[in-house]
Amino acid sequence: MSAAPTPDVVRPVFDEAAGAASKPAEGRSMDLGSKRLLWIGLVVVAMAVVPLLAGNFTVSLLNDIGIGALVALGLVLLTGIGGATSFGQAAFVGIAAYATAWLSTTQGMSPWLGLAFSLLLTGLSALAIGLLTLRLGGHFLPLSTIAWGLSIAMLFGNVDALGRHTGLSNIPALTIGPWSLADPRAIYYLIWALVGLAMLFSRNLLQSRPGRAIRSLRGGAILLASVGADAYRVRLTLFVTAALFAGLAGWLYAHMNRFVSPSPFDVRASIEYLLMAVAGGLGHLAGALVGSALVLILKNGLQDVLPLLTQRAGQLEAVAFATLFILLLHFARGGLMGFVRRWTHRFSAAHAPREPMPPVSPLPHRTLPDRGSPILSVTGAVKRFGGLVAVNDVSFEVKAGEIMGLIGPNGAGKSTMFNLLTCTLPMTAGQVRFLGQDIAGLPQRKVARLGLARTFQHVKLRPHMSLLDNVALGAHSRTSSGVLRAGLRLDRTEERQILQEAQRQLDRIGLGDRAHELAGSLPLGTQRILEIARALAADPVLLVLDEPAAGLRRKEKMALGDLLRKLREEGVTILIVEHDMDFVMKLVDRLVVMNFGSKLVEGVPSAVRADERVQAAYLGSVV
Ligand code: ADP
Ligand code: MG
Repeated sequence: MSAAPTPDVVRPVFDEAAGAASKPAEGRSMDLGSKRLLWIGLVVVAMAVVPLLAGNFTVSLLNDIGIGALVALGLVLLTGIGGATSFGQAAFVGIAAYATAWLSTTQGMSPWLGLAFSLLLTGLSALAIGLLTLRLGGHFLPLSTIAWGLSIAMLFGNVDALGRHTGLSNIPALTIGPWSLADPRAIYYLIWALVGLAMLFSRNLLQSRPGRAIRSLRGGAILLASVGADAYRVRLTLFVTAALFAGLAGWLYAHMNRFVSPSPFDVRASIEYLLMAVAGGLGHLAGALVGSALVLILKNGLQDVLPLLTQRAGQLEAVAFATLFILLLHFARGGLMGFVRRWTHRFSAAHAPREPMPPVSPLPHRTLPDRGSPILSVTGAVKRFGGLVAVNDVSFEVKAGEIMGLIGPNGAGKSTMFNLLTCTLPMTAGQVRFLGQDIAGLPQRKVARLGLARTFQHVKLRPHMSLLDNVALGAHSRTSSGVLRAGLRLDRTEERQILQEAQRQLDRIGLGDRAHELAGSLPLGTQRILEIARALAADPVLLVLDEPAAGLRRKEKMALGDLLRKLREEGVTILIVEHDMDFVMKLVDRLVVMNFGSKLVEGVPSAVRADERVQAAYLGSVV
């Protein structure tokens, strides 16, 4: 069992699962696909039969498990995949439960109207809370979730219209036409149908454009901005989505129990939901279900046993859960599904080749500027880090269709220069114009959307996503499907276009036949090349590459050189930082040499090579 030092360990299992499930498989894995369908079919039939055979207690427990699973599902998405921990999810359950309770009791409206009202109110609350808190970094976000979790639960207990601490009772049962869902056996079907739909929605979502952005959130805001996505918006959308799952659960809860009071929505309940997600496996959608079942069955068991042992059963229950939490975090961060996955992977070909997709019309391309016209000009760029001047008054111009090199000893300021011209870092002084537009001060993602794609010296890939998904992320700004379209699978044409484009770029860099392997399994040098494919998927005007040949063997470097020359022929402009002098000199049309943050020389390779100042700069350093 692994007890890795970061909570990141939950990612692998999930991403792999999503990758493996994303496309129809052929041959042996096709059998696995139909086997899977068979299993799902069996489970559905079994679930449908249970209420006919089981006792009242079991049916009620299953209803609770279904409702818990809905909330936990939101947490798997938000916390497990998106990396934002929420200790306040029960508050959203409460907002929805109280909303529908209030509307259907004091206002006498239909519970179905209550559903719309609940979701609206939950969504708006999540939006407001998210806008206020999601920019908080580090531990402040989880802390703030505790704060609003506490205050919302407190609010329920202090508002007269909501019955203060006694709550609201006599909530009407749900009805569908002539059928009443007052009986637990009847509402059971609604609950589990909704759980199934929510699972399906989440699964679709994760295998889509917004889903890839969500799965990349842990890679940081800079990664997302480099493909034209706004990490804050992605996180906010995810936060609202997770809250809406909780809202759905709250609405069901209110009409199932027919009574609401503040305590089931307090922070303790939130922690229980989080525990469900962790116990089931934060990296797996099914973890929500498994975790909810595990926690609620355990809780019921404890409630039966503990009173026999002590009079302080409530406190002991809290201790038991806390212990379980700690044990899980120490020994099984992948949760129960982590074990299941490891076990099933032994028997399945996770990386079997996939069936080729039927071709679709390609994504639209940009018109590239005329060869030779200036597309990027940097004027008097300055960057200070405190007292250190990393870039000192550097100016140069890049023309369409050329390969321009930026070289210089280690620490010369090349990467910083790249960060300035891609607006990854704000400039201290100076100007950058790209395609005639002043871009200094623009957010990085807007610059990326203009057609400036980059790779990173320190590779920023999602190691547990497939090569194909990593590259597909690059096409983010060329496409538009959102969470709702993706979840409802209305995005399939666009999704096929994206995957086709990603596959084309992978073929272009020679990794086409490894599309479904995980990016993390590639050697570092090859990962750099993969980043180029991701950048190309954005259909860039200017490609900015930071040391793409580092870590490559001679042959691979030659292949990279060929690729870059081919791109130049196709009209892509390239700006490249590289350490290998031989490689650069043979490749580029022009060079800028930097030393100690300043521009030393600019010119064609032969002139630069002959320049005394360049030789002097390089003699003192390791090239
Ligand atoms: P190069 O890519 O040419 O090797 P860099 O641009 O990475 O050089 O770094 C130039 C100088 O700026 C170095 O002295 C480096 O230590 C410093 N530097 C780079 N980034 C930062 C930062 N975020 N904070 C402080 N100093 C930095
Ligand atoms: Mg560098």
